[in-house]
Amino acid sequence: MLEIRDLECGYGPVSALKGVSLDVGAGELVALIGANGAGKSTTLRAISGLVKPRAGTIRFDGRDITGFDPAQALAAGVAHCPEGRRVFPYMSVADNLAMGAYLRRDPILVGQDLDRVYSDFPRLAERRRQAAGTLSGGEQQMLAIGRALMSRPKLVMFDEPSLGLAPTIVEQTLRIIRGIRDGGATVLLVEQNAFAALEICDYAYLIATGRVVKRGTGADLLADPNVREAYLGG
Ligand code: ATP
Repeated sequence: MLEIRDLECGYGPVSALKGVSLDVGAGELVALIGANGAGKSTTLRAISGLVKPRAGTIRFDGRDITGFDPAQALAAGVAHCPEGRRVFPYMSVADNLAMGAYLRRDPILVGQDLDRVYSDFPRLAERRRQAAGTLSGGEQQMLAIGRALMSRPKLVMFDEPSLGLAPTIVEQTLRIIRGIRDGGATVLLVEQNAFAALEICDYAYLIATGRVVKRGTGADLLADPNVREAYLGG
């Protein structure tokens, strides 16, 4: 579904990705783990068109999407649930969800998807007219997830979905992400919480200073003594 080869990206003089290659198969949940600043977010930003690659290729669903802008990537079926949630604080919950579907021209299916988001996240249904900025952190995360799903994506990318959430909400959020995979979508998950990510993923890549330094199933990486030492607290 997604094939990244030798991807290089940077910000001005900073080189953030120094030749990343990775694959995500259709229907898989793949995790990217690694320390702060390793290049995980930049990888997602390159896929969704928020940063332009300097070299390398990104193929998605049989097409070359390298250098697509964000609207083109979204139209191709990529949804990005960014770090920090980034809901539109002064817009209602309903309008935030509508923004997720802004490129779609199939109002009947959009309506069905909206009903589904409200039934999956009853708190959002109760608060549909409330300004998104007044929701709790966990509710804003649910809204960001719901908004991403409103584009009917083939690939959903989550950047640090558990950041700043209470432990019970973290568990719930990761269960929802797993459910999105179980529902047939392909998921690419960036998580600071490496242990949780490795437990729920099918496959994982460990990124350090802009390179993939290890790859394997979640179970493989959980059992790896070096990974345990550096990322899982021994
Ligand atoms: P984090 O969990 O902190 O987001 P990350 O693994 O996602 O870490 P990136 O955000 O991809 O890492 O950052 C990779 C490198 O690029 C880091 O050295 C970072 O300082 C740098 N970087 C990221 N965003 C910018 C930016 N907007 N301008 C300049 N440098 C940046």
